[in-house]
Amino acid sequence: MHTTDPRVETYDVVVIGAGYSGLAMLHHLREIGLSTLVVDAADGVGGTWWANRYPGVRTDSEYDSYAFSFSTAVREEWVWTERYPRGEEIRAYLEFVADRLDLRRDIRLSTRVERAEHSDSTNLWTLTLADGSRLRSTYLVSATGLLSRPVLPAVPGLETFAGPAHHSARWPHEGVDLTDKRVGMIGVGASGIQMLPELAAQAAHVTVFQRTPNYVVESTSPPVTPEELASLRENYDAVFERAARHPFGVPMDFPAHSALEVDDDERRQVFESKWQAGGFHFAMECFTDLMTSPEASAYASEFIRGKIREVVADPRTAEALCPTTYTFMGKRPPTGHGYYDAFNRENVELVDVLASPITEVTPRGVVVDGVEHELDVLVLATGFDAMTGALTAIDVVGREGITLRERWERDGLLTYLGIGVHGFPNFFMSVGPQTPLSNLPVPVQRGAQWLQRALSFARENGVDQLEPTREAEDWWRAETERAGHATVMYAEGRKAGAWFVGGNVPGKREEMAVYLGGGHVYQDLCAEVEAEAYAGLRPDAGLPSAHVPAGETPQVA
Ligand code: NAP
Repeated sequence: MHTTDPRVETYDVVVIGAGYSGLAMLHHLREIGLSTLVVDAADGVGGTWWANRYPGVRTDSEYDSYAFSFSTAVREEWVWTERYPRGEEIRAYLEFVADRLDLRRDIRLSTRVERAEHSDSTNLWTLTLADGSRLRSTYLVSATGLLSRPVLPAVPGLETFAGPAHHSARWPHEGVDLTDKRVGMIGVGASGIQMLPELAAQAAHVTVFQRTPNYVVESTSPPVTPEELASLRENYDAVFERAARHPFGVPMDFPAHSALEVDDDERRQVFESKWQAGGFHFAMECFTDLMTSPEASAYASEFIRGKIREVVADPRTAEALCPTTYTFMGKRPPTGHGYYDAFNRENVELVDVLASPITEVTPRGVVVDGVEHELDVLVLATGFDAMTGALTAIDVVGREGITLRERWERDGLLTYLGIGVHGFPNFFMSVGPQTPLSNLPVPVQRGAQWLQRALSFARENGVDQLEPTREAEDWWRAETERAGHATVMYAEGRKAGAWFVGGNVPGKREEMAVYLGGGHVYQDLCAEVEAEAYAGLRPDAGLPSAHVPAGETPQVA
């Protein structure tokens, strides 16, 4: 801790958030001798995994890559039990990481940051906490999560509901007794899809209010065998590296063929084999172009609709579950664990609210098309103000007194590599907006290691401020838009109201909030910045020469 002002605790770095990102940041920044404090509004570590306690919560990524690789002690001692670990297991993993790496002594829980303001005269950030006290730091790091600020449905009367009503990410930690209860669930994204089978197993009746159906790839979660765990421990670095070289941060095979260059039989065989592999294997391993070719995406969509019709016995329900208004990858594909089969249960009912939206929530239930569906418990699996929501909820004030929120409302979403923002010196984001859509522990770890080297560089070279230039931001926005438009995810995502284009929050600007050029490409770009002495983050240093081929201006497609 510095001693510049004895009345205000002053650190080299304050990190906001104690999930995967905050823990990795603390470990890596402490390694280079920076006094680092992590603060989190929650009363435990784990971030997303502290908050999300809904029934059925588990990873959609497999255990082998949903973890850090940087600590030999952690990788040797931690025991994974399931292919897709449950929320409780991930939380326990993060608590183990915090204990094993002795991180807790620099983590302050139940501490909410309301404002952080940079002063050019002192070159310090001043943070104001909810209790009115303050902290100071040279560097400010946000590790606030990209899907952490819940969105409630814009439905009149929501607050009048007489029974318990819980958002998926605010599910009570002590659980909710659903025995003999009539439960209504609004939302069929990854959260609702994981929840339904478990709600149905407990409750008397579940009514699912579905607006836009999803393309769900089913999977199973067998136990991790001792042999699998031993093999992972032996090959940890190689598994992590394989994930880091994959566009979406998963250690999976690259497909060899376009879906358009094989005949119907072969296409079906490939789809079937990867459907059997389950989860993200379907999206990642079938063909080279499910994400870039509308025709290939349409083939995948038809295959999944066929699966829905095979599994769901009632033809009307099956048809209502089949997405038709957008194609596969228009939403981030969720992994199901008996989702479609749950609709074969007598106590599960689907109410299609696409054509006839929910008009009202009353004290007794949910009204659709003039019919009141009576409920005891309301589940709101209605998603998040993704990528920017947690950042704009805090008043992060840069030069000229402008907040991040005001900056992005005024100028659109602008960041450099999702790491920093012009006008906000010495402010860094872990997996900020415009970073790759990815299995997250990979970019989280790589990002913390990149920042460790960047801050070492700054100290060793007397660089007082690292701050993206306007030119660098403009370049990254153009590259993010170009990469997004080159996929089907932009056009289909807009049709589907996907969170990665901001389409799920009424009034939010529709723009690419994630980078779809590939995690491996992104890592190479970050390496170029580093190789060129953090060009792009220093005034007058220009852009790294490798970013823009000579004579070419990046174009927004
Ligand atoms: P989401 O994918 O944004 O889904 C929200 C759902 O709420 C959508 O079905 C949406 O319908 C519905 N909705 C919102 N307002 C509504 C209204 N007024 N009436 C009817 N329906 C309404 O949110 P999520 O399921 O929480 O998932 C968000 C992201 O979090 C995922 O894509 C994933 O990246 C991450 N996640 C990951 C995991 C995991 O890896 N284990 C688990 C959960 C979440 P529309 O589609 O029509 O808008």
